Amino acid sequence: MERGLALELASTIRHDGDGGVADDLDTLDGTKRWLAEAAPVLAEHVTVGVFDAERLAREADEELRLALVALREAVRALFARAVRPGPPSPADAQRLLPLDEALSRINAAAALEPVTPVLEWEVEGPPAVRQQSAHPAPRERLLAALARASVGFLTGPERERLRACTAPRCVRYFLKSHGRQEWCKPSCGNRARAARHYRRQRSADD
Ligand SMILES: [Zn+2]
Repeated sequence: MERGLALELASTIRHDGDGGVADDLDTLDGTKRWLAEAAPVLAEHVTVGVFDAERLAREADEELRLALVALREAVRALFARAVRPGPPSPADAQRLLPLDEALSRINAAAALEPVTPVLEWEVEGPPAVRQQSAHPAPRERLLAALARASVGFLTGPERERLRACTAPRCVRYFLKSHGRQEWCKPSCGNRARAARHYRRQRSADD
């Protein structure tokens, strides 16, 4: 998990390896599993202070699951906008949130947790800033951290490298790492080239 929290959240909708779409957040068990897997990264991104991501993963409930799904919907709608003029992920291209709704969801989640920057400067090393939370509730801190990460991603340099994979059946958003990369991973590239070849053969036969 080094893709950043916003992309991690968006990527809970993924190709199921069998021609369909899987959703890690479509059940409470799946949500707990995702939170447990993401716990180390989450713990790095939430505000300083005691934050037990593993405990949150164990104690997640339906309310938290629905809040995560709603936030993800907003992130994916904004990702769809960010990759223009390229196509959005086909997983939810037909039911994207309107822009103002997506923005207000992200902003509302970010507002769940007021944070104060705290400047620190150890004897050795450079000065650093830590974000101090005004509210200790772990689920609000989690949702706010995901929202802040999304704001940071969408306003940062990585947004321009965001793409939706165009391989058949793939539904992933990914960060392009070189010039003309169209696919999220080599196996997607192989599948896309095979499909292109097949279409060319077909039109040649017509
Ligand atoms: Zn792909």
